[in-house]
Amino acid sequence: MENLCIHTITTKPWNLEEAVVKFSEAGVKGISVWEDSTLKLGAEKSGRLIREHGLEIVSYVRGGFFPSINAAKREQAIEKNKKMMEDATALGAPSLVLVCGAEPMQSLENSRMQIQAGIEALLPLAEELNVKLSIEPLHPMYADTRSAINTLKQANDIAEAINSPYVGVAVDVYHLWWDDNLENEIKRCGENGNLFAFHICDWSVPTVDMLNDRGLMGEGCIPLSNIKKWVENAGFTGYHEVEIFSNKFWQMDQDIFLKKIIEAYKEYQIQ
Ligand code: ZN
Repeated sequence: MENLCIHTITTKPWNLEEAVVKFSEAGVKGISVWEDSTLKLGAEKSGRLIREHGLEIVSYVRGGFFPSINAAKREQAIEKNKKMMEDATALGAPSLVLVCGAEPMQSLENSRMQIQAGIEALLPLAEELNVKLSIEPLHPMYADTRSAINTLKQANDIAEAINSPYVGVAVDVYHLWWDDNLENEIKRCGENGNLFAFHICDWSVPTVDMLNDRGLMGEGCIPLSNIKKWVENAGFTGYHEVEIFSNKFWQMDQDIFLKKIIEAYKEYQIQ
C-alpha cells in the first residue's frame, strides 16, 4: 500500500473533502489532484486539507493542449499552463501532468513542434516555482484532438530534446500497453532521468466508450505485471497512480468501488 496513489477523478462522484477522508481511512498514501476537484476550496486550502489527512500530493492534473493553427490560441494555452503551475505550487504539488493536445487542422508533426515550443516557454517558470512537467503520451485513438504524442518514443524524444530536469514523462499503461517497443522505451526513459510518473488501470474488453470505460487492474488485457517490472527495473520508486475514468464505476457506490480498487491494487502488487 506504500506506493498506492489515487487520482481524484477515479472517484469523481466524491468531492475533494470526501475523497481525502475516505482515501486516508482506507490507508491510501498518495493523491493526484485534478483541477476540477480544487475549484470549491481553491488550490491552497485544498492542499492544506489533503496534508492534514496525511496524504501526499503526487501530481496536479492536467495542463497541456498546446497546439493550434491560431497563434493567439497557442499563447493562451501557455498562459493557462502558467496559471496551472502557480496553482500546483499553491496546492503543494511537485508536478503538473501535461495532456499535450493535437490540432486536427494540421499535421501531427506540426503539433509536436508546437508542443515542444509550448513546454519550452514554460521552463523559466518551472525552475522558478520548482514544478516539474510530465509529458503523458496518449493512445493513438486520441491523436485527433487530445494528443499528438502517442508513443513513449515520441515523449522520450521531446523530453530529451528539451533536456531539462524539470521535464519528464508520465507513463500510463492504458495508453502504451500495445507498443512492442515499450520495454526499451521505459528503460530509455529511466536511464535519462525522465520517468516522472506511472499511471495504472486496465483495458476493458470490449471497450464500450473511448474515454470513460477504463477497467480496474486485472480486469482487462494489459500485461500489468510485465510493465510494472519494466518500470521498476528502470529505477522508478514513486507512486503507482490509479487513474480510472469509468461511467460504470462512477455509477457504483464509491465506498464499494474504493474497496475494489484496494483489492485490485493488492493483487497487482504481488504479481
Ligand atoms: Zn494517465
